[in-house]
Amino acid sequence: MDLSCLFCRIAAGEIPADILYQDESVVAFRDIAPQAPTHLLLIPRRHVASTLDLSGDDAPLVGQLVTVATQLAQEAGFGSISEGYRLVINTGDAAGQSVHHLHLHLLGGRHLAWPPG
Ligand code: 5GP
Ligand code: ZN
Repeated sequence: MDLSCLFCRIAAGEIPADILYQDESVVAFRDIAPQAPTHLLLIPRRHVASTLDLSGDDAPLVGQLVTVATQLAQEAGFGSISEGYRLVINTGDAAGQSVHHLHLHLLGGRHLAWPPG
């Protein structure tokens, strides 16, 4: 754990968050500045700064992030082809990554335009 990292501290329970799911490897909580009716963040408990720091050994971890996101989308009521949702990972400055602990955004509950900004 990186004590200077906001999301490590949320995963450790040191900083409060509205947590919807957690297990031994991932934590899911509501984004503090939601960009859609449902806007969740899914993070690995382990500090990983970005997708650039993933290796092949992390495939199960990435799979768990996506699988949990799918479960949460279904629980939120838009986890179907007729409804739909968006999963986003911002990596690096040009993509607007502002927290340097890997996180998967789950956005849903409204129409989502394409292309993104
Ligand atoms: P990024 O821009 O790095 O892809 O996304 C970071 C996200 O973290 C943003 O959507 C931002 O609103 C969210 N965020 C930043 N600080 C906090 C916080 O203290 N708590 C929660 N729940 N979300 C945060
Ligand atoms: Zn961290």
